[in-house]
Amino acid sequence: MPYVTRFAPSPTGPLHLGHAYSALLAFDRAQAAGGQFLLRIEDIDQSRARPAWEAQIYEDLHWLGLSWPTPVMRQSDRLPQYRAALQTLWDRGLLYPCQCNRRDILAAVSAPQEGAEPAYGPDGLIYPGTCRALPRPGEIPEQALRLNLAKAIEALGPAPLRFEETGEHPAQHEIALATLPDTLGDIVLARRDMGTSYHLSVVLDDATQGITEVTRGADLFEATQIHVLLQRLLNLPTPRYHHHRLIRDDQGKRLAKRDDARAIATYRAEGASPQDIRQMVGL
Ligand code: GLU
Repeated sequence: MPYVTRFAPSPTGPLHLGHAYSALLAFDRAQAAGGQFLLRIEDIDQSRARPAWEAQIYEDLHWLGLSWPTPVMRQSDRLPQYRAALQTLWDRGLLYPCQCNRRDILAAVSAPQEGAEPAYGPDGLIYPGTCRALPRPGEIPEQALRLNLAKAIEALGPAPLRFEETGEHPAQHEIALATLPDTLGDIVLARRDMGTSYHLSVVLDDATQGITEVTRGADLFEATQIHVLLQRLLNLPTPRYHHHRLIRDDQGKRLAKRDDARAIATYRAEGASPQDIRQMVGL
């Protein structure tokens, strides 16, 4: 299968050195494999996405020397596809509506065993299942939708879930299905304000774009088990994963969107060359 990878930024702020590393690494890996590098704009959070940031992404990446096929996939154009996948899962009885906010969840997980620390998974607080047993409406409602993980695991059957990692800790990883209810909880697959979620969208988009290897930061390694589970549930192929080291600031903290000081545009304005950026991120 020809090699296809992608860079999938969210247009919610300037690209910084961490993004530059991710994009350059993905591009280089595609070049080395004689494959394709694709771009995808992850703009489902319309309250934070801005056209100006999207324009800046194209400009910064072109300046770095990258190119990609157009038109670029944009998540905000794909809500019908996300909806269709949710409908499939809903019809199989694997989703339920949830009205809890963060405060409700924190109260529910803190109440019974005083002093016990609430458990966190890759998505934050592990949901205690408050809304799981409520009667399900006949039609898919305009609410947050959670995956009933116990039912999903039952639906998958006993075959092990595996993925191949080629990044920092290369290995064939097997996902311990039985432990997922404790380590993940019933994750949100559709947020009320978005009609989808990062996890659902990323899985559908990677499949539609024919991605054979996902290149992204090691901060998303734990989320990969959610993605592989969703791929199996939705009958989608599991790509290989290449999780790379994170670029950190002088204090060792990983860079965030608000680190404007390390924005590519700032270095550029100060006269840095694309080669300087490659050197700064260790490429
Ligand atoms: N949109 C995500 C980000 O900007 C990347 C998601 C992914 O690569 O799977 O952090």
